[in-house]
Amino acid sequence: MDLSRRGFFKVLGAGGAAIGTGFGTANASEIPAPSEDSLGCLVDTTLCVGCRKCEQACNQRHNLPAPEESFEELTVLEKERRMDETSYTVVNKYYPENIGTLTWRERPTFVKFQCMHCNDPSCVSACIVGALTKQENGAVIYDAKKCIGCRYCMVACPFQVPAYEFDNALTPQVRKCTFCFEYVKDGGLPACAQVCPREVITFGKRKDLLHLAEWKMKNNPDKYVDHIYGQHEVGGTSWLYLSSEPFETIGFPKLSDDPPPRLTEKIQHSLFQYFAAPVILYTFLGGVMMATGFMKNGKKKISDKPSQKGDTHES
Ligand code: SF4
Ligand code: SF4
Ligand code: SF4
Repeated sequence: MDLSRRGFFKVLGAGGAAIGTGFGTANASEIPAPSEDSLGCLVDTTLCVGCRKCEQACNQRHNLPAPEESFEELTVLEKERRMDETSYTVVNKYYPENIGTLTWRERPTFVKFQCMHCNDPSCVSACIVGALTKQENGAVIYDAKKCIGCRYCMVACPFQVPAYEFDNALTPQVRKCTFCFEYVKDGGLPACAQVCPREVITFGKRKDLLHLAEWKMKNNPDKYVDHIYGQHEVGGTSWLYLSSEPFETIGFPKLSDDPPPRLTEKIQHSLFQYFAAPVILYTFLGGVMMATGFMKNGKKKISDKPSQKGDTHES
């Protein structure tokens, strides 16, 4: 269905009936399960040195506006940042909660964030016109031609990833990491994975990445916490992470293994069995998502720490 904004207002004008009956809403059960060979990236945060080359490569590949401060400026890492409409990925710096005895534990951890490309994405489920879709290869991609600007996806995302071009009055779009879909589908690499000088980001089949992560943990039990972030969270994500620090101390939200679309499906079935009201459902969903807010429950007070410009993290 290809709806312009004008078309959307016509729909609204037609009254709540269409909405109340679940007009165009992607049913969570209709989202195809990712194929056995779906792709992903494994990010080994213990290798990252916070050079921001991945941010720069992403910016250039997607012709995004140049940042206020150059990508060579590393003091920006002292402040926790979020993705926005001009940055599909950001690298943040987290200091250890407790300084350990091992050298690498005394160093900060650098973490690259972007859309996680969830296996069962709540943004896709929340989009009432199908502007966001889960592809067979694992990518969650956006079609600006279908988007009506309702921004339900922004509210629904448990990682608070989608950003909106509020400054673009004429043709605003939702913006987020594309998984470099146009390149990956033709056998190319995500720009960030391609450029990383430390090979922090391994691109490949998700199932192989899980084996690699398990192998790394098994062979370096003192180096990694016993957790692959994204293996199970919200039903699994295409992007997976390894860390030497507990994930809640390096900016990751603690989330249930249940995909949010399935949770809301259960709520819908139990509460609204005889009167499906997506508006109420999405309002509720928004409350749930805000309560699990990305960059909030795992946030460390890094501004309290002394500035350590140029710190690196050797493995
Ligand atoms: S992921 Fe790689 S490119 Fe990005 S900051 Fe870390 S080391 Fe640099
Ligand atoms: S991280 Fe958010 S925007 Fe990305 S696929 Fe998951 S729900 Fe959608
Ligand atoms: S996969 Fe592509 S769009 Fe996503 S962060 Fe990497 S370079 Fe940017």
